[in-house]
Amino acid sequence: MKEQEERVEGFAPELGDMKPSEFRRFGHEVIDWISNYLEHVEDYPVLSQVKPGELVAQLPVSPPQKGEAMETILSDVDRLIPRALTHWNHPSFFAYFATSSSAPGIFGELFSAAFDVKSMLWRTSPAAIELEQVALSWLRQMMGLDAGLDGIIYDTASVASMHAIAAARENLNLRIREEGMSGRTDLPLLRVYVSEQAHSSIEKGVITLGLGQRSLCKIPADIMGFRMDTEALARAIEEDKHAGALPFCVVATIGTTSTSSIDPVPEIADICAEHKLWLHVDTAYAGPAALLPEMRHILDGTERADTIVVNPHKWLFTPFDLSVLYCRHMDVLRRAFSLVPEYLKTGDAETVRNGMDYGIQLGRRFRALKLWMIIRYFGHEGLAARIREHCRLAQLFAEWILESSDWQLLAPVPFSLVCFRACPPLEGETDDTLAARLDRLNESLMNNINARGEIFFSHTRLNDAFTLRLAIGNIRTTERHIHRVWELLNEELARLSK
Ligand code: PLP
Repeated sequence: MKEQEERVEGFAPELGDMKPSEFRRFGHEVIDWISNYLEHVEDYPVLSQVKPGELVAQLPVSPPQKGEAMETILSDVDRLIPRALTHWNHPSFFAYFATSSSAPGIFGELFSAAFDVKSMLWRTSPAAIELEQVALSWLRQMMGLDAGLDGIIYDTASVASMHAIAAARENLNLRIREEGMSGRTDLPLLRVYVSEQAHSSIEKGVITLGLGQRSLCKIPADIMGFRMDTEALARAIEEDKHAGALPFCVVATIGTTSTSSIDPVPEIADICAEHKLWLHVDTAYAGPAALLPEMRHILDGTERADTIVVNPHKWLFTPFDLSVLYCRHMDVLRRAFSLVPEYLKTGDAETVRNGMDYGIQLGRRFRALKLWMIIRYFGHEGLAARIREHCRLAQLFAEWILESSDWQLLAPVPFSLVCFRACPPLEGETDDTLAARLDRLNESLMNNINARGEIFFSHTRLNDAFTLRLAIGNIRTTERHIHRVWELLNEELARLSK
């Protein structure tokens, strides 16, 4: 009897979903919880302090036989999950590229889960397909990209770039879709060119497409600005052609991962035009900076790109995931991926867009909703103001670095990422041991500060030096947080220098 009563309140019913009245009640509770979480996210250590396996050890090995009360489930979420999280929404998250979700984006995700459409055919999800068209047109206009670009949403930039390279390969008309690449003696070595600073996702895309790492040609970048050396690019293409290889795609990056450097896209576009190569531009992180009229120039040259990837889930306050591939030749992308079995045939295929035709996925999430809601809520000006503030904070931090004799700036700061290291005066050392000591000092500095949980930042290697990266991009980060970083860094440096 007691069990029956419990089933009415908070327990799963015998059949069907949760009762609407309970959904409403727990829904309010969940929103309250999320609201408190976001309001007090700074109370958590940014970097999770749990040990591997700690969460697993606190959960039953077997699934429950009978449904549990929603109260118990929510209380376990509250008790166990946040402490086992690294808090990407924490305003002092400065690692990798700092990203964050915003309230309208969270609402968008909630609606999307409720609608649960599979955006494969237009008729399975007209709103998802058409809102995608609208949101991507708005984003394109805000970034100042030209109207010749159409777009499609994928989950991540890694997947978007893989599709771009697949389209570039399809554009060669080598019947690779039909006959593959293995066992063919009529195929030369196909070549893709990237800067040595390009994101590893390009190499993974090349591997996934069966081109092999041998197909990827990494072009050196200059040691001060970390930008692709275009003379080296032109030379590599000539040499490859001379050796009988077939260059077909160049990937340029606007906002590289290690330093946020900007490859010289106009010159790269000239080279692509001369050799008839597909130009893919990876601006996954930095693209949204073009929302600022004063930064539009970062996209110079992209009017000649064939494909461009930009990630609203990085610097446009969109909950993970949402990556946009803009493409000038949707027909080629479609040719590479469209495959329509009988059970998915419709009479309107030539007049509407069917999302499944442009990638390996059949069903696609309704991601456009959150982007559309974010653009509407903040507006172009509101989004630009937040990005502008992040760039200002990065410049401020870079100025402190430049003014101090204990610290050194290791790369230009075109956006909101600062690459630097501690370099206090160390005496009586050879160059080699000095470099190794500086590396050890900076690594300890980063690890010790991160272990305290107040801020979280990460590193890279530049010109073989251990380099600290402060990536600013969280919607909740303010000048107060940047001052605190500077305080912590100097305190820890003083402690380590004793
Ligand atoms: N491209 C660049 C320039 C990046 O910085 C990153 C990630 O940081 C990626 C691509 C991959 O992004 P995603 O996680 O969306 O695949």
